[in-house]
Amino acid sequence: MARRKKQRDPYVCPSCGARAGEVEKTWTLVSPLPDKYGRITITVMAVLSCRECGYSWKAPIKKMKTGGDEEAASRGEEPPKRPGQVIELDLDEILGEE
Ligand SMILES: [Zn+2]
Repeated sequence: MARRKKQRDPYVCPSCGARAGEVEKTWTLVSPLPDKYGRITITVMAVLSCRECGYSWKAPIKKMKTGGDEEAASRGEEPPKRPGQVIELDLDEILGEE
């Protein structure tokens, strides 16, 4: 079973098929989970409307990744293993603070 990756043009009207989408408004969606390089994916969503038939729809018009280890990711390296930081809390100290 071949996996087809269809690159959908967000500016093509899903109703009449004309590439006549006009961006009416945009907003961003931020992925709540970073990828393995610690990068956050930001998706720019848009409401588009068709100049031909007036249909309006929503589509992601841009995706970008930000933060994290961008260099390692671009070289295709494995993410660096950062030693976890150990934070020691003294419960007695916290509870007895008043
Ligand atoms: Zn249309």
